[in-house]
Amino acid sequence: MQKIGFIGLGRMGRPMASNLVRKGFQLIVNDVNEEAMQHLVELKASKAASIADVAAQSDIIVTMLPSSAIVEAVIAGEGGILANAKAGSIILDMSTIDPDTTDRMARASQEGGFAFVDAPVGRLASHADRGESLFMVGGDPEHFAAVKPLLNAMGTTIYHCGPAGAGTRTKIVNNFLAVASCQLNAEALALSERFGLNLDRTLDVVYGTTAFNGQLKIAWPTKVLKGDVSAGFTIDLAHKDLTLVMESANFAKVPMPMAAAAREAFSAARARGFGGQDFSAMVNALCDAIGIDSPRLSSNSPHRPS
Ligand code: NAD
Repeated sequence: MQKIGFIGLGRMGRPMASNLVRKGFQLIVNDVNEEAMQHLVELKASKAASIADVAAQSDIIVTMLPSSAIVEAVIAGEGGILANAKAGSIILDMSTIDPDTTDRMARASQEGGFAFVDAPVGRLASHADRGESLFMVGGDPEHFAAVKPLLNAMGTTIYHCGPAGAGTRTKIVNNFLAVASCQLNAEALALSERFGLNLDRTLDVVYGTTAFNGQLKIAWPTKVLKGDVSAGFTIDLAHKDLTLVMESANFAKVPMPMAAAAREAFSAARARGFGGQDFSAMVNALCDAIGIDSPRLSSNSPHRPS
């Protein structure tokens, strides 16, 4: 039976790995945080003491890590995957990182005799919990086919976007829209609040016109608008993604003034101590800055999910 390595068991990696185990895959896991591994061990995954251990025992090695630098260290660093994996293994990086790093990891993997697939994850952390994520995949067709059973176990929607690197680039485009729209939502709802408008009626109108966006309609009523700012996707990670957008756009000579403005709003929220909160809490950061209460749905609001 194929053995799957899984490195990075945070807010996303933990439910993704859990869904793999529940659906019958044999997993060996690692995280620098010992506690993060405990839940997987209880589900009958085995725990590895090091990245080298995971790499040496796995046929496919999944990475779900916070930043480009960490992905590079885990894959290509001393004691990393490339130095320890079995010949012919597949490295499946699902983190959101910069395309340049993805390209370098793909090249280094190929030179070492390994396959590389990038498959960043779309939708919310709550979708990952339910095994309903969307994946945007870059890689050769045969390697895409080899990782597809894993993706099917973790999500419901899979798009093959092109060769290695195409998944990461698609994710950058997606997250520009998803994250920047949070800043638009924050400004719109703070203005509505300052005007003294009724939140439910404002949402009725906005949801009924082309001003509709998924963050405001699907994500926000389940998070900040009912007072839950626990991390699904943090303001820190969203800021990281807007930085990836700006850096990769700058490299490609594409000016992105909206991305720059949104990124700096996220910088301000982080400076004010909101970095660890869910990215919908951008509206709290703005309302806090202007000294008004944040908008909240009442307990009997029709927009409040049951
Ligand atoms: P997280 O910070 O909750 O989890 C990261 C995990 O990696 C932590 O458990 C951490 O201990 C572990 N880790 C860090 N360095 C490590 C190392 N050297 N070796 C082993 N483990 C290490 O982050 P997350 O929210 O799970 O996000 C992970 C990635 O997925 C990020 O790139 C993020 O941008 C992306 N993403 C997040 C969401 C979301 O909603 N949270 C959605 C889609 C994509």
